[in-house]
Amino acid sequence: MIQHLRQLPLALCCAIAVMQAAPSNPRAVPNRAPLQKNKFNPLPLGAIEPRGWLRQQLEAQAHGLSGHLDEFWKDVGDNSGWLGGTGESWERGPYYLDGLLPLAYQLGDSALIAKAKRWVDWTLDHQRADGQIGPASNDDWWPRMVMLKVLTQYAEATADARVVPLMTRYFQYELGSLPKRPLRDWGRYRWHDNLYTVLWLYNRTGDRKLLELARMLHEQGYDWQAQFARFRYTAKTSKAVLSERRGGMPSDEAMQTHGVNNAMALKASPLWYLLTGRAEDRAALDRQLEQLDKYHGLPNGMFSGDEHLAGTDPSQGIELCAVVEEMFSLEQDFAVFGDALLADRLEKVTFNALPATLSNDMWSHQYDQQPNQIACTRARRQWSTNGDDSNMFGLQPNFGCCTANLHQGWPKFVSSLWMATDDEGLVVTAYAPNRLRTIAGGAGVEIEETTDYPFRDEVRFTLHLAKPAKFPLTLRIPSWTAGTTVKVNHQSKQLPAAGCVLPDGQSPATQHCAVDRAFYRIDRTWRNNDEVTIHFEAKPRVTHWFHNAATFERGPLVFALPLDAEWKEVKNYAQKSSDWELTPTKKWNYAVQLPPANAECGVSVAETPEGAVPFDQAHPRLTMQVSGRELDGWTMVQNSAGAVPVSPVSANGTTTPLKLVPYGAAKLRITSFPFVAEPASCASNSLRSQR
Ligand SMILES: [Zn+2]
Repeated sequence: MIQHLRQLPLALCCAIAVMQAAPSNPRAVPNRAPLQKNKFNPLPLGAIEPRGWLRQQLEAQAHGLSGHLDEFWKDVGDNSGWLGGTGESWERGPYYLDGLLPLAYQLGDSALIAKAKRWVDWTLDHQRADGQIGPASNDDWWPRMVMLKVLTQYAEATADARVVPLMTRYFQYELGSLPKRPLRDWGRYRWHDNLYTVLWLYNRTGDRKLLELARMLHEQGYDWQAQFARFRYTAKTSKAVLSERRGGMPSDEAMQTHGVNNAMALKASPLWYLLTGRAEDRAALDRQLEQLDKYHGLPNGMFSGDEHLAGTDPSQGIELCAVVEEMFSLEQDFAVFGDALLADRLEKVTFNALPATLSNDMWSHQYDQQPNQIACTRARRQWSTNGDDSNMFGLQPNFGCCTANLHQGWPKFVSSLWMATDDEGLVVTAYAPNRLRTIAGGAGVEIEETTDYPFRDEVRFTLHLAKPAKFPLTLRIPSWTAGTTVKVNHQSKQLPAAGCVLPDGQSPATQHCAVDRAFYRIDRTWRNNDEVTIHFEAKPRVTHWFHNAATFERGPLVFALPLDAEWKEVKNYAQKSSDWELTPTKKWNYAVQLPPANAECGVSVAETPEGAVPFDQAHPRLTMQVSGRELDGWTMVQNSAGAVPVSPVSANGTTTPLKLVPYGAAKLRITSFPFVAEPASCASNSLRSQR
């Protein structure tokens, strides 16, 4: 009887929750013929709600710049051209909305929804008779590409019937206008962002004219595939090339080496593949990533771009806009191809490069972050072209694009945590705490995903259904895991190391393993309160980068030596928006000892209690201890850590323990270390992983 009483309110609450599922239509919209099918279909904005540490992160964002920027930064203030005013009328309003709008709906924050809706309403209410949208003061295609991305998210969250007709009329106008007024400069290099919303609309209306427009955008847009087929930007971009301007605009070389353009372009071939189905269009993405990794890859998951491709030295920077744009590209790429390595990469960028470049309270951000970042001060550094304040934390260091564009990072990651499969099932793209409400197997389903991943190694899914439903639930197995255990209602299944396609119930030993198809599929009839847990075995690992330098990683997290930054406020703008200089209070020039080969020692990992801020240097949720020795010859050059000496190096000082924290928590840090030839001793400092 007592049990009954306990269960009743739960069942009632969940049935109601399923009925109240947001958004109004929580189903994914599959691609319409003749487009290729996506491997996985994105779910509409609102289907996934952040929970746990991820909600803390989004709430910090709402209480920080994202929730207040319009109150004091005039570029997104009341006089914006995108609100009918005479102020900024180009990309900043749309950029801001592209993050503010999903943030508002995911938090269900009515004040933020009202802020965002005002902008959307202005665009919806002011379409010209010929179909054009946006401020009359310019006719640039580029900022409109961004506002269209905002409108698609708004339509998904609200089903507002005005969006589809407005977009239809706009694309008719664009199709008629492009022959006379073709894509140019930014729009020409970012045509795929336009293609993205054209395909979104085609899947909803089936209007064949949209496919004609898609082909025209491809024809007029820059050929990124050709750039990477014969990649000639294999070193830090030279200032001479970058200083040229043509007709007031950056030169073609400047556009082609532009970090943000390259991050956005990571979705060009996958989206174009949907029209062609050609193997070359699929292979082009791998080639693009491989070349960027090889010549410009950084240990935080990104490539360098400060403002242009800058080689693999970890003292080079990467712009915040490029971080959030690469995330959005990878989210689309994973939907199209379903390659698990793309989602591994997405997690690496999201859990490292994104939090590292934002302050804990989300009131300040950098323009450029460096993996080896020993001071964030106004000073001349070795950037390809950026200014002296580029790595300071502030309102608009270097330039205001990131101030407007940073907001989309976390919310779009939330939107992509789950996707739908063609057989009415669901797949986990990336792991983080959330609640999903959607339709699967023909029934309303709510899945509570409880976890402190990436700081912990276990994820629990609890399913709530008003009635039993049969559908496949597919879990992504990250490539780094040394072993995986899945439990369905407490019954264990041991999986081998990553990379194996394992239909439920089949023996791992007989399966073909391939790292690009690492999924575990559970196809069964699900009942209310069914529970699935997945446990990964994340072992510390060492990866090698510029000059053979060593970086410590574990699971999707990169670890760095924090330099205990002292924050000095140099200017306050309004509210809590200030510019800050960060200087180190600790030595940074150490060479590390690597763990001995084939031994699980030399590095120890400790779980620490949760603080209020997920990526906080004062309360890191996970720490790693390694050992190192001071390396006097490694000094500061041009206000950054000098080039990492080629490893192995000799350093004869005393061996000291070094406590590393997640990269995203260490605002000043060393991430890529030289190492000494002699490996760490297993006996010296309690080196086994602590749980
Ligand atoms: Zn930017």
